[in-house]
Amino acid sequence: MAESQKLLEIKNLKKYFPIRTGFFRRVHGYVRAVDDVSFDLYRGETLGVVGESGCGKTTLIKTIIRAIDPTEGSIVLHGKNGETHDVATADKTTLRALRRDIQMVFQDPHSSLDPRQTVRDIIGEPLYVNGIAKKNEIDERVRELMAAVGLDPGYLKRYPHAFSGGQRQRIGVARALSLNPELILADEPTSALDVSVQAQLLNLLSKLQKQFSLTYIFISHDLTVVRHISDRVAVMYVGKIVEVGSTDELFIAPQHPYTEALLAAVPYADRSLKTKRIVLSGDVASPSAVIPGCKFHPRCPYAQERCRVEVPELRAAPGVDGRIVACHRAEELSLAGVKVPVG
Ligand code: SF4
Repeated sequence: MAESQKLLEIKNLKKYFPIRTGFFRRVHGYVRAVDDVSFDLYRGETLGVVGESGCGKTTLIKTIIRAIDPTEGSIVLHGKNGETHDVATADKTTLRALRRDIQMVFQDPHSSLDPRQTVRDIIGEPLYVNGIAKKNEIDERVRELMAAVGLDPGYLKRYPHAFSGGQRQRIGVARALSLNPELILADEPTSALDVSVQAQLLNLLSKLQKQFSLTYIFISHDLTVVRHISDRVAVMYVGKIVEVGSTDELFIAPQHPYTEALLAAVPYADRSLKTKRIVLSGDVASPSAVIPGCKFHPRCPYAQERCRVEVPELRAAPGVDGRIVACHRAEELSLAGVKVPVG
């Protein structure tokens, strides 16, 4: 993808939480929630981020929007006019301006909306606070946003409890759109919804992406959802990105053993599409544990001596354009993916 299309450049991003114990609250270790993550994001694409619970997906996007401060690393945002800003080190005033370009859609539509605010206040508040619309213009803008996300603009004065889960998530999307952002960070936005409503929300997000030229980072533990919506997929394991590639290619021919294991766990209605069963031994490693070598080696069926001592760097994968992988044995392994391209 063209350099000029880069929207976000993340380099060596770390978020470590200190573990304090004892009377003096001394630090005796760290939870490495995000551990040296680097990737680029291009305008107009959807990057799906997958991995088991606790792998650092949510901490990653909270760090990107600076809801929490990173420990190290840079998050360079390329503006529409060619200017660049490092979100990681931006001061309060700059950060406030940058946050107009980066918005979040949250996982739980029931707890992410204030039950004491009307839909008008929820969607209109960012417009008012940021001085984008005057009081008398807000109703009109909120009606437009409600129509854009498929809500009846006549429900402007209703409270969140009057809406279904899917409709509440649409309110959350409308609020995220209100500042006309370039990038939306979606944190498991479909996981609290019924399957039929999930599909409607995914279709809505795709429609809005085209309509408003949006870029998404879409987090989910559900690989079928990620496959449906993403152009590229990044796989995370215990705070690290272990593989990134275009969705179809990565699903059909993974190059990291952890990606292979995740794909093997996807349930299919048609059993003939199922690949070999892979049962990983042990639990997901603790992000506070110091594991020498590859963090996946205690569970990897292909681990060798080198894997136990040497950390695999994220590097260009053999034979596939744009794929990066962190595995010593990527060249020699022939891993199983899913059998059908995305429909
Ligand atoms: Fe498995 Fe070794 Fe590759 Fe890690 S580096 S994923 S342990 S084969």
